[in-house]
Amino acid sequence: MSDLTFERLRRTNLERSKVWDPTGAEDKTTEDEIDFRDLELRGEQGELANKIKKVVRYIRDMPGGIAPDAALPEIRDELADIIICVDRVADCFDIDLGKAVPEKFNKTSREKGLTVFMDEAGPGTEAHQGLYRQRPSRAFPGYQP
Ligand SMILES: [Mg+2]
Repeated sequence: MSDLTFERLRRTNLERSKVWDPTGAEDKTTEDEIDFRDLELRGEQGELANKIKKVVRYIRDMPGGIAPDAALPEIRDELADIIICVDRVADCFDIDLGKAVPEKFNKTSREKGLTVFMDEAGPGTEAHQGLYRQRPSRAFPGYQP
């Protein structure tokens, strides 16, 4: 896994927005800008769905299908576009995804009675390392990351 952080994504997204769309970068809380960024996100979701549709066609042996291996680079790109656009929408509301994601992940775990929680302290911290020390791998008993 890479060391990408939501903070780095936000910072570089903002830098690029200033040159790609200066008006939107300055007025991120206007209805027009929020709508535009939401449209960008839905557009990328549609692009991903179209790639997956072609893989499903391939699996079903239908005309117009693309083998999963061949589609993988495009699926990867569309997933990345979605994450980039999610950050742009979150920026409109000053939402810190680095906090929001683990909080929501853990909220869902609590609601569903699941025992897997995301460390809200973040990787590399003492709390994070302690969390994983307490949870040996089920797949590889005895393994300690
Ligand atoms: Mg795209």
